[in-house]
Amino acid sequence: MRINSVCLHCGKELVGRSDKKFCDPQCKSAYQYQKEKQNPERFYNKVDNQLKLNRRLLKEYNKGGKVTIRAQVLLDLGFDPNFFTHYWKNQKGEVYLFVYEYGFLKRTEYGKEKFILVIWQDYMGVDIKRR
Ligand SMILES: [Zn+2]
Repeated sequence: MRINSVCLHCGKELVGRSDKKFCDPQCKSAYQYQKEKQNPERFYNKVDNQLKLNRRLLKEYNKGGKVTIRAQVLLDLGFDPNFFTHYWKNQKGEVYLFVYEYGFLKRTEYGKEKFILVIWQDYMGVDIKRR
């Protein structure tokens, strides 16, 4: 006879597979949310690590002032375009996303996703201060 374990979130007795830890997906996500809340450092570190990786990759592939690269090349290496520090909009209304001093713009050319890589310029900062 095996001793039934209880749900880690609500404490209800679990039925079925012996490796189950929660009664349902709701209990599982509630438990993980609680854990995440108790440990805000983990979230900070996750974001921080992603920003560092993004910056390293943009730096590595941006040898000149302006470089076009296939998006998949960076994505394959772990680049996540949803993590950036700030943005700059040019006069054409194109929004460059920046990870510190390295920026990128998503663009589709001939059906292929590209990133245009740029480096932060002083005049971009001047522009922000004027507003
Ligand atoms: Zn439960």
